[in-house]
Amino acid sequence: MLKKEEIRVRIAPSPTGFLHIGTARTALFNYLFAKNQGGKFVLRIEDTDLERSDEKFTKEIIESLHWLGIDYDEGPDVGGDFGPYRQSERLETYKKYLQLLLNENKAYYCFCTEEELEAERQAMMKRGEPPIYSERCANLSETEIKKFLDEGRKPIIRFRMPAKKIIFDDMIKGVLEFDTKLIGDIAIAKNLDTPLYNFAVVVDDETMKITHVIRGEDHISNTPKQIAIIEALGFKKIKYGHIPLTLAADRTKLSKRHGATAIADYRTMGYLPEALINFMAFLGWNPKTDQEFFTKEELIKNFSIASMNKAAAIFNIEKLNWLNGHYIRQTDLADLTEKCISYLENSNLIGRVGRENGK
Ligand code: GLU
Repeated sequence: MLKKEEIRVRIAPSPTGFLHIGTARTALFNYLFAKNQGGKFVLRIEDTDLERSDEKFTKEIIESLHWLGIDYDEGPDVGGDFGPYRQSERLETYKKYLQLLLNENKAYYCFCTEEELEAERQAMMKRGEPPIYSERCANLSETEIKKFLDEGRKPIIRFRMPAKKIIFDDMIKGVLEFDTKLIGDIAIAKNLDTPLYNFAVVVDDETMKITHVIRGEDHISNTPKQIAIIEALGFKKIKYGHIPLTLAADRTKLSKRHGATAIADYRTMGYLPEALINFMAFLGWNPKTDQEFFTKEELIKNFSIASMNKAAAIFNIEKLNWLNGHYIRQTDLADLTEKCISYLENSNLIGRVGRENGK
């Protein structure tokens, strides 16, 4: 009998800020899917953008995920067979595949400057055309390449996008179709040592044996690009599921203007992880019954990606407050007292003496 392939999913946050509630929600759905299917959930830190990435955010993301109880099977702090789990430690692997694409003429060096590209984009938009790369450097001769190098131009690496329709059956959104003519030859690396997101993600997903990618719908436009790169490298197909975004009550993008967005802030404000888990699960999924309270174990048992909503979820803080009240009342007195101490201390309602004495 054929052995069923193990399901492997991942969350791939960039450490450019605290763990956002939207990212935590994506992590939760990946976790629930993996656990429901007896699969594995991986944490990968996407820190190739060295200027914007900060180790303090990596630490915070890890801490917040542990605090929420969204436990991953593999990741930077827990290890695993497919590491390293930080992109910055995987540069040799990206380089190998970039070189392969270049050798096979599926990628090429592009010497256009930012100013030239911008001028091209403006001209295309003026003509009412989609602003894609003109392919000016797609077929340079040796002499042209030498001339550019002599001028001191620093090339980037572009992927030669095959002209075709890319169709995939999204687990949440259904069948989606894209015409690569509207995408063009995308940049995949600044140089052999500096891959860009769409390329690095494809190499990571393949080498980490990821089978399903579940992420926010803001990534839908990246998916055909990634599929094209997967096909060019002969990598294994992946199933995709794009989760509708969470909007604020005014139906605009959830941002700081609407209140706290970082999990750490909710923690500081006194929300319990059980309440946040229950709340986030309902931002996009519902059990199709009247049951409102779900433990993590019940969520794992009941979760199905097919029953996820196709429309945006609305962030309703009253619902979170109500759930939090429920979980606070459920907590036994000794545990609750312990949980309250740091809040009372921080508000100077009790002194720190007792705890400092080791009690
Ligand atoms: N680093 C990306 C993000 O944080 C990951 C996207 C993906 O899951 O492919 O949005």
